[in-house]
Amino acid sequence: MTVLDAFSLTGKRALVTGGNRGLGLAFVRGLAEAGAEVVFVSRDAERNAHAVDALAQDGLRVQAFEVDVTSQDGPDAAITGAVERLGGLDLLLNNAGLAIHKPALEITDDEWDLVFDVNTRSLWRLSQRAGAHMREHGGGNILNVGSISSLIVNRPQWQPSYNASKAAVHQLTKSLAAEWAPYGIRVNAIAPGYVKTEMAPVDRPEFRQHWIEDAPMKRYALPEEIAPTVVYMASDASAFMTGSVVVIDGGYTVY
Ligand code: NDP
Repeated sequence: MTVLDAFSLTGKRALVTGGNRGLGLAFVRGLAEAGAEVVFVSRDAERNAHAVDALAQDGLRVQAFEVDVTSQDGPDAAITGAVERLGGLDLLLNNAGLAIHKPALEITDDEWDLVFDVNTRSLWRLSQRAGAHMREHGGGNILNVGSISSLIVNRPQWQPSYNASKAAVHQLTKSLAAEWAPYGIRVNAIAPGYVKTEMAPVDRPEFRQHWIEDAPMKRYALPEEIAPTVVYMASDASAFMTGSVVVIDGGYTVY
């Protein structure tokens, strides 16, 4: 057994939320390339099928089905559906997320609730269902996608709902890690900086000063630059890691 063997995900069964594009798609690809059996859920059937086809063209067999994680039965449907398709569940990757750029005095109650529903409440409900399954089966791994927005306040756009929702994700990660360590369940989070996806329009000139120039590395990341860290945290290479939030931000939060 070499050190690289510890990074293999062969035999691990993973559910990824929000896997049809952006960071989620890069994570699905990374996990599958590392040997995991992967199922992902998102709402858009066409985009799901497109992602599955693109992965298949590269020899990666991944399954997908439609779930709105904010719906009443969404978390149960996602966990049950993944367990049925994979024969069990070793990893839940809570990636689905939503950002609304609106200042504190303008955001409506409904918009605030929607951001918390996607980013925090559904992540919590999915984790609870997955945690119950993992405890029953001797352990597992939950990985949450937080954000540097829980550590700094983004600018120039104000987005208090998103920042608060991700701060809750980080603290929930630590709470569950403490509570579920006795069951063999590890719970960690990543906190990415700016990554080029539909959510983060990193090429727009009005964002350049604060999103790019303010960071030590003076660039954004591509989703595939974050995926290797996810593979590490999903694997036995990180066996002693729980309750951790791993920041990957090109140095953004050093200032
Ligand atoms: P995208 O907007 O590109 O993708 C979001 C994904 O989530 C899509 O697959 C979408 O699919 C899915 N999704 C959204 N709402 C729901 C829902 N209600 N039910 C099921 N799936 C849903 O975002 P990113 O790839 O940029 O973001 C991924 C994660 O990374 C998020 O948690 C985000 O907060 C976080 N993040 C992103 C950063 C960035 O700079 N991009 C930085 C830090 C963190 P569909 O619409 O088909 O449902």
